[in-house]
Amino acid sequence: MPVVDRQLLDWMRTIRRTLHQHPELSYQEYKTSAYVQEKLTELGVGYRNGWGGTGVIATIGRNVVFQGHVGLRADMDALPIQDTKSVAYASKTPGVMHACGHDGHVAMLLGAAALLEKMKLAGRVSLIFQPAEEHGNGAEKIIAEGALRDGIGAVFAGHIDTHYPTGMMTVDHGIICSSSDPFSLKLEGKSGHAARPHEARDTIVAGAFLVTALQTLISRETDPNQSAVLTIGRFHAGYAHNIIAEDGCIDGTIRTNDPAVRRRILDGLQRICDGIALQFAVKVTVQYHDCLPVVVNSVSAADVARRAAQLILGNGKVISQGRPSLGGEDFAFYQQVVDGCLVRFGAGGSVENGPAHSGGFDFDEDVLAVGATWLASVAMLWLREHEEHASHGR
Ligand SMILES: [Zn+2]
Ligand SMILES: [Zn+2]
Repeated sequence: MPVVDRQLLDWMRTIRRTLHQHPELSYQEYKTSAYVQEKLTELGVGYRNGWGGTGVIATIGRNVVFQGHVGLRADMDALPIQDTKSVAYASKTPGVMHACGHDGHVAMLLGAAALLEKMKLAGRVSLIFQPAEEHGNGAEKIIAEGALRDGIGAVFAGHIDTHYPTGMMTVDHGIICSSSDPFSLKLEGKSGHAARPHEARDTIVAGAFLVTALQTLISRETDPNQSAVLTIGRFHAGYAHNIIAEDGCIDGTIRTNDPAVRRRILDGLQRICDGIALQFAVKVTVQYHDCLPVVVNSVSAADVARRAAQLILGNGKVISQGRPSLGGEDFAFYQQVVDGCLVRFGAGGSVENGPAHSGGFDFDEDVLAVGATWLASVAMLWLREHEEHASHGR
């Protein structure tokens, strides 16, 4: 198994801190991408850039005779949050911050590249530096551009998680993250005098019925044993007390862990919008943005992921996360094409930090060693077993 020495950990820490000081939002990871390419060149690893604009895919083991090909993924983007930390490596860009640990994911994957470069591999490993996980579904975009076309049989990734101490990992099969379906409803009626409603079409009354009716998708149409939530976070309409509102906008999101429940709620949303539109003679248009499917780890990928984790951390250090998170992850898109497993790297350590997606977020950088070792190990293990399987079949 590969081992991260002091020098490699320091190298990764420098990368992480450099990225932390220069965070970039989804699809704007230009400097990040250039920096990743510079580090890959330093390691002598070949790559192709331009995936989804800023993505980079590097491949190690191009010359091996075996056909196995495995992918490792790191996301690169930051969030529109003001960094409130007082550390020397705090963000230098006002209002933008690596508040989800993606700077660490990039450093780990480069660390894994350094380890894999020196190993004898039973196949090829592609290192996927992906844009726009937080906003815009970068995974979906680069897959549509052919990121998985070159015979990649499985993809693995990990997410830093400060709920667990450094040196622990969670590995689960099945659903671990929820689907997320943000939506906007556009209401169009007819303006008029407040005293003469019969000459107008009131979008506020129609919208109020709509907000209430949509809750019945959860309370009356979803199995009470399933978890699902529909939240309306914004309802905007109207101009003044004596004018009937001509148009309105309602924004909300649907979260659930079950694809069948999701489908049912989405179908129901359209049906209720059509019904309310008919009832009040207004127009209601449904629009979805950046929808995410659930993250489902396959049994076989989770099995390899777990064994790799146990090899490097020991048995008691690899646990289950328990119930699926209601957070979303665009890693789900890889799993719609190939086998895959997303794990969590404990990074709580001794750092006094705020939660992910907050201005105080930070993590214990010792996790970089765990992440790089696990990424390299899971790739090696998957390739070796894939090759053994293929040679038995001959
Ligand atoms: Zn995030
Ligand atoms: Zn994240």
